[in-house]
Amino acid sequence: MSEIPYGRQSVSEEDVRAVVEVLRSDWLTQGPAVDRFERAVTDYCGARHGVAVANGTAALHLACLAAGLGPGDTLWTSPITFVASANCALYCGTAVDFVDIHPGTWNMDPDRLEEKLHRAAVSGHLPKAVVPVHFTGVSCDMERIGALARQYGFTIIEDAAHALGGYYQDLPVGSCRHSDMTVFSFHPVKSITTGEGGMVLTNRDDLAARLRLLRTHGITRDPGLMEGASHGPWYYQQVVLGFNFRMPDINAALGTSQMRRLAALIDRRAALAGRYSVAFRGLPLTFQQPPADTRSAHHLYVARIADEARTDRAGLFAHLVSNGIRPQVHYIPVHTQPFYRRLGFTEGMFPEAESYYRQAITLPLFPGLTEADQDRVIGTVGAAFT
Ligand SMILES: *Cc1c(COP(=O)(O)O)cnc(C)c1O
Repeated sequence: MSEIPYGRQSVSEEDVRAVVEVLRSDWLTQGPAVDRFERAVTDYCGARHGVAVANGTAALHLACLAAGLGPGDTLWTSPITFVASANCALYCGTAVDFVDIHPGTWNMDPDRLEEKLHRAAVSGHLPKAVVPVHFTGVSCDMERIGALARQYGFTIIEDAAHALGGYYQDLPVGSCRHSDMTVFSFHPVKSITTGEGGMVLTNRDDLAARLRLLRTHGITRDPGLMEGASHGPWYYQQVVLGFNFRMPDINAALGTSQMRRLAALIDRRAALAGRYSVAFRGLPLTFQQPPADTRSAHHLYVARIADEARTDRAGLFAHLVSNGIRPQVHYIPVHTQPFYRRLGFTEGMFPEAESYYRQAITLPLFPGLTEADQDRVIGTVGAAFT
């Protein structure tokens, strides 16, 4: 029996054909496939602009730069996230701080955000940007965070790396209805994949123009963006310091093909998550409580093990591995990482996140998981508690 991973990509023969077609075309990069992919994602999400980039981390980095983050500024995010949600600020010379999670939704707690903003306003240390992370694909309370952004004047960059295909108040995550920008990742474990890839969505023309400029070295061929007159059709100018964060056409073609199956992929994840929830009734496990106005993209299936259960997280993890199942833990609180401790963060600063981490385990969930394999996971988990 092969090992069951916690997540894996779903690649169809149609996806393979789409990639092969690009390999035989004139453009491996900087061609028309990137525009098509950007349009496929923005059409689905209902946002005005999509800027495809090399990976989700690059998307966060460019979003921070487009928001004007620099030295002297601060960005706040959740401690229960991948390190990239915080690192993106440090790339810009911007400081990072965290807002603890809600014990039920496991997302940034809007009450704590409000309290912290109130205190920061008094001490004059308001954040320039807040990065809400839609953990496991469940949207944060964006209406409330959007209202706080208007009150306190910060930029919202949604980290929706888990949430493509999810909904918030009847609109797809990525609509940017309550935010300035939304970031997706297309790493193989996410809703859809481009191998490596990411995208920033926005409804603001100024941010989109800036993101496109920063994606290619800060170079423009648009005479309207140049200082002085163009020298001719060969002419370009570098007007700011940017990067090569482009997505190749090979990857974009895979993404466009995958987008056609996005709804079906999410439905399959939802069905499997539903089967787990029924099967785990009566076990000493608790699960994320998504607010009623959200529809999850079901990126991860996380269980928290009650402290009084006969097996703890380490015990269940080892039991699963010895039975050919490869769980994961999402996430080790970012502020407890050695690098972040060196910046002054300590254990105890974000107690909800820390208590979540002590109990959490991620079980296999991906569209290609068969019901037979899922039953094996269910049986193995059940056996650990009896
Ligand atoms: C995957 C992920 C990222 C980073 O995306 P990459 O494409 O791997 O760079 C950022 N934030 C979260 C929450 C993620 O899960």
